[in-house]
Amino acid sequence: MPKAILTLNAGSSSIKFALYEMAMAAPARLVSRGQIEGIGSAPHFIARDPDGTLLTEQRWPASAGLQHEALLTPLLDWITSHLGAESLVAVGHRIVHGGDAYARPVRLSVGVMADLAKLTPLAPLHQPHNLAAARAVARLRPDLPQVACFDTAFHHGMTPTATRLALPRKYAAEGVRRYGFHGLSYEYIAARLREQAPALAAGRVIAAHLGNGASLCAMRDGRSVDTTMGFTALDGLVMGTRCGNLDPGAVLYLQQVHKLSAAAVEHMLYHDSGLLGISGISNDMRTLLASSDVHAQEAIDLFVFRIVREIGALTSSLGGLDGLVFSAGIGEHAAPIRAAVCTRLAWLGVECDAAANAGGAALISTPHSRVQVRVVATDEEAMIAAHTMQTLYPASTPSPEAQPVHPGHAVRSFAAGDMP
Ligand code: ADP
Repeated sequence: MPKAILTLNAGSSSIKFALYEMAMAAPARLVSRGQIEGIGSAPHFIARDPDGTLLTEQRWPASAGLQHEALLTPLLDWITSHLGAESLVAVGHRIVHGGDAYARPVRLSVGVMADLAKLTPLAPLHQPHNLAAARAVARLRPDLPQVACFDTAFHHGMTPTATRLALPRKYAAEGVRRYGFHGLSYEYIAARLREQAPALAAGRVIAAHLGNGASLCAMRDGRSVDTTMGFTALDGLVMGTRCGNLDPGAVLYLQQVHKLSAAAVEHMLYHDSGLLGISGISNDMRTLLASSDVHAQEAIDLFVFRIVREIGALTSSLGGLDGLVFSAGIGEHAAPIRAAVCTRLAWLGVECDAAANAGGAALISTPHSRVQVRVVATDEEAMIAAHTMQTLYPASTPSPEAQPVHPGHAVRSFAAGDMP
């Protein structure tokens, strides 16, 4: 009977998942990725194998009114029918916020869930949905061990100076400080770099996670020193629909002059701003790159301008720069954006190899470039699976840091006695 780990990344309207199968004394492998989207409207469940071949698909009408728990049932049922009953041995969750207390993944218990629920005001748009999925699994499969993996954990080593906000200090006591996010992605990138370019990994590297959410992380020897996201995932770069770095005076203006409520401003900053807000066309970089509309170009220009500006700031935090890594949807696939960023970083000694960049190579800088520029395909699910194994079976699992997992490759090997 194969044993499997399910990873869940639950948002307000979608649940992304991946399924890893482990065999006795053999490497684990990715068996499926998929998602349930349209939660709250007309849900759609889809699972594919690692090559993208459709494994299953189900749709429900909006009138069914299905929420997270009701939609996890068909996913768990499909895993049972696909891999066999009793095959699923654990679930690992992406939890956006671990606060001050959780510097590493942790097995979920009633007490931990209560702790994490207290962090909801710090991540109101993510934390409740992350926890709803964990609660739903606990109700549906109470015997299944669950592990929380935090987006904030990778940044725990940042200095107090890098995490402090210049507000009256009583607020710091209640957790108002910079945390940083996208930590699972950065941890994966750091591990892959150690494997692919060990000398560079030991140096000063800025990783650019450029997806719908976007941030930069300054790493020294694979550890976070500084990052562009802060107290919330709104800070830093221009994103698909989020504003990024903003003068707080602009928020006051919107509230005082336009009489917008806090909820209306929140909605604007998270959902109506960024690439979508500036272009008025789309939050999708592919659409903007294909558009001849001047506003689309303005959105792209600001996106690049702010990345370059923040790279300058993080280079100062690192005291120099040895490497730049592009990752996530835009970072991995949008060659023109990578080229534009590199061109504006010529002052730092960045020299992009145009052919390597256009051709999708892993190393896209020239041999003369003072900064090595690479593209790393991130894999947060693989990191969650590795952490889940490490948390549940620490004695027999290599550290996820030491042995990163890759799609379709080994997570770890099991000995017969390891199985729960
Ligand atoms: P999420 O943060 O939701 O996980 P992704 O990492 O998948 O998002 O990134 C989504 C972004 O990547 C979108 O803006 C999308 O347009 C962009 N993207 C994906 N593929 C390409 C491509 N081939 N060229 C340009 N942009 C791309």
